[in-house]
Amino acid sequence: MENHNSRRTFLTTVTLGVATLFAAPFIKMQGALAALVSMNDPLVKALGYFNVAEAEVAAKGKGAGADQAKASLKARTDKKAFCSTCNFYQGDAKSKTAKCTLITSGDVASTGWCRSWSAKQVQKKA
Ligand code: SF4
Repeated sequence: MENHNSRRTFLTTVTLGVATLFAAPFIKMQGALAALVSMNDPLVKALGYFNVAEAEVAAKGKGAGADQAKASLKARTDKKAFCSTCNFYQGDAKSKTAKCTLITSGDVASTGWCRSWSAKQVQKKA
């Protein structure tokens, strides 16, 4: 009887370990996605924030989504302006997402943009 329980415990432990091993990257990815700002955030809407890379793809389609993407892209007159080059972006050059000091409900994409974009200040070394 004890031998039977030991085998069951062993198999349960191995099964859970393998399941955790395969699920870990997915769980980590879900966590990263959950950290992004919600497009339903009133401040996100007010500032006209959007992901430029995603909008460029959406603009090639049809319907209301494509029209919205085209309008967002048109509002961004400086084609070199991205969150990654904005003074309010808290990430480094390699980060794909990071905190923004204006929009605090989640991370913004390095390829994002909003109407409050301001050129990143370059610190000169003394
Ligand atoms: S303020 Fe700058 S970093 Fe923040 S969402 Fe707007 S463009 Fe991106």
